[in-house]
Amino acid sequence: MPGVCGRCRSAAAEVELPYARLRLCPDCFSDFFVSRVRRTVEEFRMFREGDRVGVAISGGKDSGALLHALRSAFPGLDLVALHVNLGIPEYSAHCQSIAEGLAGELGVELLTFDLGRELGIGIGDFEGTAFKGKICSACGTIKRRLFEELAMRAGARVLATGHNLDDMVGIMLDNFLHGYWGQFVRLKPVLPPLAEGMAARVKPLIRSPEREDLLYCLYRGIRFKEIGCPFSKGAKVRRMAGLLEAASERNPQFRHQLLNRFLELMPLIEGIAPRPEFSKCRICGFPSQGDICAYCKRIALVKGDRGGVPSESG
Ligand SMILES: [Zn+2]
Ligand SMILES: [Zn+2]
Repeated sequence: MPGVCGRCRSAAAEVELPYARLRLCPDCFSDFFVSRVRRTVEEFRMFREGDRVGVAISGGKDSGALLHALRSAFPGLDLVALHVNLGIPEYSAHCQSIAEGLAGELGVELLTFDLGRELGIGIGDFEGTAFKGKICSACGTIKRRLFEELAMRAGARVLATGHNLDDMVGIMLDNFLHGYWGQFVRLKPVLPPLAEGMAARVKPLIRSPEREDLLYCLYRGIRFKEIGCPFSKGAKVRRMAGLLEAASERNPQFRHQLLNRFLELMPLIEGIAPRPEFSKCRICGFPSQGDICAYCKRIALVKGDRGGVPSESG
């Protein structure tokens, strides 16, 4: 790409942002990325300067960019990195070493929940259950719950996750098309705590396109996982991503406009969305829509499936 950076007017432009009609050099792009994270946090009042903020990091590019950008945008912020080790051979050790490396480099404390050590199971054990073939669904439930738990252990008032613009718009559009209003409203940029003592959930990267999370990692030297999860298929997400990509080629602002319109509609959709009634899970005490929460049901399924064989043997 020929030409100089549209911001500093001195370095060579390397990144083109068609939706903003900008061509930037690596340093100006990184500043642009960090400013957008800061503005997003302020726009939605995601947290205040004195809050302790937990950041869910998986080892992937999105959450890596998130932790790094939050550190740059708010140098004095009390950050704690949270990681779940899913007990998937090779993959989980790789992800954990990346999480440890990143937290160490940024001087951020890291808290890990190790499925094998704390529960005696690994995500692969779901292959022997009714979740065979849809392990990602069980894994999603377990991760969501364990990040909540880690945030509580860390004493974090806020839990930040790395959902990017493409994730958000893709899932919102899918829920919108199907009229899944209850799931649609769960994509709000800020979700209040489910119960006293729990963290509010925030998404500071909702305005950051996926490709830019990757570029930010490359330019800032942030390591991210190089192997994919062996259980992930993600077919539905990828189909939606292709659709969004095609639309964005004709209209570079497509994803940004869609997100903005969805956010405008949010209060109206909240009015028609079914309101879940929460009680306490009989086993773990977390907020639950039934007698026993979805997390405890899944853990029991795996443990029960072993037919009483002690976990040391598995
Ligand atoms: Zn520049
Ligand atoms: Zn439970």
